[in-house]
Amino acid sequence: MASHTASQRYLSTRGGSYGLSFEEAVLKGLAPDNGLFIPEEIPSLPPNWQNDWANLPFEGLAFEVLSLYISPTEIPPSSLMNIIHKSYSTFRVPSVTPTVTLDSDRKIHLLELFHGPTFAFKDVALQLLGNLFEFFLIRRNQNKSKTGEDREHLTVIGATSGDTGSAAIFGLRGKKDISVFIMYPTGRISQMQEAQMTTVTDKNVHCLSVDGTFDDCQDLLKDLFADPLINTTQRLTSVNSINVSRILAQIIYYFASYFSLIRSGTFNPLTDHIRFVVPSGNFGNILAGFFAKRMGLPISKLIIATNENDILHRFWQTGAYEKHGVQSASAEGFNVGVKETLSPAMDILISSNFERLLWFIAYDVYTSNVDGIQERRQIAALKVKEWQTSLKTKGGFCVEQKVLDAARVDFSSERVSDAETLVTIRDVYRWPNTGSPGPKGYVLDPHSAISATAAQRSAKTAPGIHNVALSTAHPAKFSHAVEMALAEEKEFQFKDILPSQLLGLESLPRRVKHVQRSGGLDGVRTIIMNELEKELNGTP
Ligand SMILES: *Cc1c(COP(=O)(O)O)cnc(C)c1O
Repeated sequence: MASHTASQRYLSTRGGSYGLSFEEAVLKGLAPDNGLFIPEEIPSLPPNWQNDWANLPFEGLAFEVLSLYISPTEIPPSSLMNIIHKSYSTFRVPSVTPTVTLDSDRKIHLLELFHGPTFAFKDVALQLLGNLFEFFLIRRNQNKSKTGEDREHLTVIGATSGDTGSAAIFGLRGKKDISVFIMYPTGRISQMQEAQMTTVTDKNVHCLSVDGTFDDCQDLLKDLFADPLINTTQRLTSVNSINVSRILAQIIYYFASYFSLIRSGTFNPLTDHIRFVVPSGNFGNILAGFFAKRMGLPISKLIIATNENDILHRFWQTGAYEKHGVQSASAEGFNVGVKETLSPAMDILISSNFERLLWFIAYDVYTSNVDGIQERRQIAALKVKEWQTSLKTKGGFCVEQKVLDAARVDFSSERVSDAETLVTIRDVYRWPNTGSPGPKGYVLDPHSAISATAAQRSAKTAPGIHNVALSTAHPAKFSHAVEMALAEEKEFQFKDILPSQLLGLESLPRRVKHVQRSGGLDGVRTIIMNELEKELNGTP
């Protein structure tokens, strides 16, 4: 059994809220001061964790890890166990997130995170989030009549450039008292991703195809959250990567991978060292690795692997965190925005979760000679606010050398181009004797190819150390890059890697509403209110 911390509470990185329960932090999503929620303390591991956890299955590990962040008075252990079981029994492999060895000589491994319902790593977090939402709402509504006015209802709204949307839909489909609206830019996500989302026909799932770009979808999302009209009647929440429960869920697999390597006999925890290499966009996945490390998992380094949208890499090189939009011509003239790459789930201008790391670093660097814990938290929040204000008004900020030094203790970074991504997909496919799902070699998706490239660089500079590259999507989801990389491989046929679940999706009935960008906030609000009315009052 886990050693429960007395009572885990949550605070906002910008100092506006302290002492929140886990439930409040999860249901709110974003803090009212626009900060992000973090646990007030990163818990440390119980004394015998290394022995006690060594042979636990994924769900058991999940229970031990999450119990350190969620007080038993908030979610009783038996309910937490249920929530975990519901979330991870939807995965197609019993180990949920298996670790496979790609190259035993160079000690390069892959942590496969794509065995959930939508074939991408976001399922690990969004399956749990959906069941947490459901648990909280059932509890809040348990003594209310089935259709009564006073029932609490949650309206989840998200903007997606692909993966988040389908993972959120699969996490929330069919859940009582929850409606989900996902906006995506028409014609700008892959056909597979669009089919995955729009062929889910549960009544509470609403796909909105917005004529515009992903940024237009995000602008509409922000407008909706700030809109007094919709907010007086609906309780809105977001599943974008800001929700703290997503970070917590992702901690689990760092432990799972560590123990899996020990059990397979490849890794000796007494003498060997391990690095995790993470393909990063919004910094959520790797931030969970930082939490795992702070808890006490002996990770020697976390390596951030970016694509050509490299704001994180530039920060770790220079200490300057600056939006560098790429100017590109578009129908409307010039657009300053993200660069479109072969790994679209990592195409970002700024990384939302980086703010959480900044809080912890500011706390370490600027408060060591301050006594009261509350004062120390305030100082960290002030520093975060100062940086975020500069990011907003000037497009960036620069940190002091001691902040950069602190950031480099736990992390280093690598940038990987599209050309290198393609080379790695091809090279790895050609390697002999890899434990492979494909007919010949292992087939990487472009995001996983970015971490695999960075892992190879890491292996070269520090031979002997184990490198675990996180593999975040199934290659069938990103056929464009995979087919480009393997065009000359005679034995490769895309249909050989296409999972049966994704087969024939294209021809299923779809449910989607079109949103004209010219209709603005009023237009999208009207559509959402109408859809909600139809859903909740049972008219088809
Ligand atoms: C979201 C996503 C990422 C990036 O993860 P972050 O937590 O945003 O850093 C990488 N790969 C895939 C396939 C994703 O869907």
